[in-house]
Amino acid sequence: PGTRRWCFADQLGPHFLDDPHQEVLLVESRAVFRRRRFHRQKAHLVLSALRHRAAELGDRAQFLQVDTYAEALDAVDGPLSVCAPTTWAARDFVLARPDVQVLASRGFVTDEQTFRRGATGRGTEGGKRLLMDDFYRAARQHHDVLMDGADPVGGKWNYDHDNREPPPRDGRSPVPAPWLPTEDDIDEEVRADLDRWERDGDVSFVGDDGPRLFPATRRETLHRLRDFLEHRLGAFGPHEDAMLAGEPWLAHSLLSAPMNLGLVDPVEVVHRAEAAHREHDLPLNSVEGFVRQVMGWRDYIWHLYWHLGRDYRDRNALDARAAVPTWLAELDTADLDAACLSGVVGDLRARGWVHHIPRLMVLGNYALQRGIDPAGLTDWFHRTFVDGYDWVMVANVVGMSQHADGGVLATKPYASGGAYIDRMSDYCGGCRYDPKKRLGEDACPFTAGYWGFLDRVAPKLEGNRRMAQPLAGLRRLKDLEAVVEQERDRGTDPY
Ligand code: SF4
Repeated sequence: PGTRRWCFADQLGPHFLDDPHQEVLLVESRAVFRRRRFHRQKAHLVLSALRHRAAELGDRAQFLQVDTYAEALDAVDGPLSVCAPTTWAARDFVLARPDVQVLASRGFVTDEQTFRRGATGRGTEGGKRLLMDDFYRAARQHHDVLMDGADPVGGKWNYDHDNREPPPRDGRSPVPAPWLPTEDDIDEEVRADLDRWERDGDVSFVGDDGPRLFPATRRETLHRLRDFLEHRLGAFGPHEDAMLAGEPWLAHSLLSAPMNLGLVDPVEVVHRAEAAHREHDLPLNSVEGFVRQVMGWRDYIWHLYWHLGRDYRDRNALDARAAVPTWLAELDTADLDAACLSGVVGDLRARGWVHHIPRLMVLGNYALQRGIDPAGLTDWFHRTFVDGYDWVMVANVVGMSQHADGGVLATKPYASGGAYIDRMSDYCGGCRYDPKKRLGEDACPFTAGYWGFLDRVAPKLEGNRRMAQPLAGLRRLKDLEAVVEQERDRGTDPY
């Protein structure tokens, strides 16, 4: 066997080792939890996964529970190797250690070198925009996924136009509830430790504790994957953008958390989804949509994290300065009347997870409209979601959701009024606000907020051709002054 492999807590699958007998170092660092206020279920999941891996490896693993990584390395004899870790800070740390050999990263479909070859000079200001669609097509060809010779299976690369349906009318999920793991002794131990750390005032968490909902081992991950492929994937596409109060899972795979812990190789996930399409004739719009999320969007965001540089996280092109409000930081819904926000924040408090549309079109849209500081928001997303990591959130939040990069990642801001939420969810029917109103007591805060946002950022978006129409609409609004004043008063107060 080669040198001992140090596996970080998001490098837990067998694909981070060179052979099945390699010796492993695992480190549980308490300082990580002291530095940041995580969702309780996220802290639980990460610790549970790490401890499960240590138990699984038995004598092959040296498992150190310490305060800092530096402390752990000082206690270890002999050379170590590590697959390049997933944050700028962790890479700096391992590269500065002469006793650690740093290898290429793993855990993504396209490797960093291949991405760099295709991306040189792109994705930065002045350079050509680095489009996700181009990257995704190249990756499909390169890895021969859903391909029919040189052409995409079915003749098209993307079936999204079939995947924008509103939620099912009966308000019920189109598929049965997902498979959920059963907690064991390790989870019990994790829970007791977290309780104790909290009692000691050492760490503090946000969100409800609860039974662990996400896989902490490879075996559990494969169970969830099988369940998804058999019972959920076929229905995934049409309603993937829909939101239903009380049905948070819908047909989503719930695989992002275990994938980001490194419990399963995304290459394997993609191949199994492709096989399910071939063998069980699952609808192509669903399978392609899922494959694009895994080898397209997930990989793309990962590569952009490095490609756009370490200062990208501090971009603030729309000059958004408001702090993350306390009610959002605390996931406190007590004073929220807006049914969509209350539902989404409540779901997040209960599970540490909501799918991509509540993230983008409710939480992100809210923050964009209210001018919340993108760096603070990125940190909040990272800490509060079970699948959130620095590399996941930087480009997703700064670029995609908050347009803080001035248009490197997305051509226009993802701002929308209540009409979108009304069309794509069942929230508005039970809300005290009216998605059609922008002024008055029952003015929808998203509809009014949209105009307030446009008014604030108009000077910065003047040259953007895709914003010409909305800005012309803004200039035609007769009651704009009153709306802007109303929204200024609302600020980031709960509504
Ligand atoms: Fe949300 Fe506005 Fe709809 Fe209420 S009316 S649920 S605030 S979008």
